[in-house]
Amino acid sequence: MSEQAGMSGRAERQPTEETDIPVYDPATGERIAQVRSGGEAEIDEAVGAARGSFNSAVWRGLPASVRARTLWRAADLIEDKAEALIALESRNNGMPRTLAEFTIRNGAETFRYHAGWVTKIHGQTSGIVTEGAIGGGRAEYHAYTRREPIGVAGLITPWNVPIAMACAKLAPALAAGCSAVIKPAEETPLTTMELGTILVEAGIPEGVVNVVTGRGERAGAALAAHPNVDKIGFTGSTEVGKQIVKAAAGNLKKVTLELGGKSPVIVFDDADLAAAVPGAAIGIFANSGQACIAGSRLFVHRKVFEPVVEGLAAIAKSLRLGSGLDSGTDLGPLISPRQTERVIGFIEEGRSAGVEVVTGGRRLDRPGNFVEPTVLTGVTTDMRLYREEIFGPVLAVIPFDEEEEALAAANDSSYGLAAAVWTRDIGRAHRLAAELQAGTVWLNCQLANDLGMPFGGYKQSGWGRENGWDGIEAYLQTKSVFAQI
Ligand code: NAD
Repeated sequence: MSEQAGMSGRAERQPTEETDIPVYDPATGERIAQVRSGGEAEIDEAVGAARGSFNSAVWRGLPASVRARTLWRAADLIEDKAEALIALESRNNGMPRTLAEFTIRNGAETFRYHAGWVTKIHGQTSGIVTEGAIGGGRAEYHAYTRREPIGVAGLITPWNVPIAMACAKLAPALAAGCSAVIKPAEETPLTTMELGTILVEAGIPEGVVNVVTGRGERAGAALAAHPNVDKIGFTGSTEVGKQIVKAAAGNLKKVTLELGGKSPVIVFDDADLAAAVPGAAIGIFANSGQACIAGSRLFVHRKVFEPVVEGLAAIAKSLRLGSGLDSGTDLGPLISPRQTERVIGFIEEGRSAGVEVVTGGRRLDRPGNFVEPTVLTGVTTDMRLYREEIFGPVLAVIPFDEEEEALAAANDSSYGLAAAVWTRDIGRAHRLAAELQAGTVWLNCQLANDLGMPFGGYKQSGWGRENGWDGIEAYLQTKSVFAQI
C-alpha cells in the first residue's frame, strides 16, 4: 500500500483548508487529527501505483491459494487489532462501541468470506461445432471463458460505517485480483488508513492498495474521472452517485453504486407487536438513523396505530444519548454540525407544516452533534420528510387500512433499498416480499444481512450488488477464448 495523503502533523508545516482536513470527535466537537487533502496529483500518483501493480501481476498473478491466505490473514489482523480499531471508529464516527465492535468484526468476516471465493473463480468450457464458419464450411473449437479482474478499481466510501464500507469494497476487489485506490469520507478517514497498514502487514504487495484521503469534490471527483481507472465502486448519496456516473462516462468505467434509501416498514394488525415495535425502533434509531437501510417510513394498520406509536415513543425516550466511547450509550452523535442542522431542518419544516412531534425533535443543548430520537405523525406524501432521505433518528409513522394501500405507499418512492413487513399471515408476507420494490425485504425482522446474500438497491438506490457471488462478479470481466481444433 502506498498512502498518498496520510496523517500529517509536522510542526513546521502550516495546514490550510487547501492542504489539510481536520478530523473531529462528533461527540465533543474536539479536533482529533488532521489528514492531507489529496487532489488530482495524489489521485494520479495512486492510480499510477495501482496500474503498475496490476500490469506487473504482482497480486493477480499469485497462486489463488496464496491470495486467499493473504485475505484470511488480513481478517485475523483486523481481529487482533480490534480493540484499537473499535476505539478509533467510535471516536471518529461517534457510534457506540458495541456497534463499532459489530462492524469491525463484520469487516474481518468480509475478508474471510471473500478469501473463500478466490479459489473458486472459474470460467466455463464449451465444445463448439459450427457448419457455417466465416470462410465457409464446418469448424470445431474448444472454447472457454476466463473470469479476469477488471483492473484498477476506484473505491469511494461514506462516513456512516467507515471501516466496514472499506472492507466491503476492498475484499471483493482484491479477491477478484484487482488493484485499488480507496478514498474514505473526509469526516472519517482514520480506520481506513489503519486498514491500509493492516493489508500491507497481511502481505498485500506494494502498490496494490492505495489510500488517498481527501474531499469528495477534489479527490473523489478526480478518482471518478481518472482515465486509467477501470471501475468505480461507490457507496454514498444518490446525488453524488449521479455525479459519479457522469464522471465515469469519460472512459466508460464500470460502476457499482450503493446509494440512499427511504425504506418502508409495514406493520399489520396481526403482527407480533412485542417484536415489531422494538424491531421498527432499532430499524430507524440504530447508528442514530445514519444507515442507508434505516426504516424511516413506518406504515401501521389503523387498528394498532396508537399502541405502536406509544411503544415507539417509549423506546425513543428510553434511549441514552452520549459519546460512543461511554459504555452506557445507546445512541451516539450525528457525524457533523452540518448533518445535525440538516436533520433539524427536516423536523422544523414538518413542524411548521402541521406534523405532530410525538417525541424528540430537538438538538441537545450540549457539545457534540446530538439529536433526540424523534417520532412523527401527520406526515403527508407531499412532504420532504416523506420523500427524502434524512439520515438521522427521525421516524414518520403513517396509518393505513388495506394491504394494497400499504403496498402502494411503500413503493411510492424513488428509492428501493430495503423494506420490512411485520405480519403473522405467511401468505401475505411472501406476497408482499414479491411485490415490494426493494433490493432486500425483511419478513418479521429488520436489518438482517449476511455476506452470502446480495445487497443493493432497486430504482435510485443503486446499481449492482455487493456480497455473494454477485459482489465478486462486480470486479470481474469475462473473456471468451476460441481455439480451433
Ligand atoms: P456522500 O455521497 O456525500 O459521500 C460519499 C463519498 O463520496 C465520500 O467519500 C465523499 O467524499 C465522496 N464524494 C462526495 N462528492 C463527490 C464527487 N463529486 N465525486 C466523487 N466522490 C465524491 O455520502 P455521505 O454523506 O458520506 O454518506 C451518506 C450517504 O451514503 C447516504 O445517502 C446513505 O444512504 C449512503 N449510504 C449507502 C449505503 C448503501 O450500501 N446503499 C451504505 C451506507 C451509506
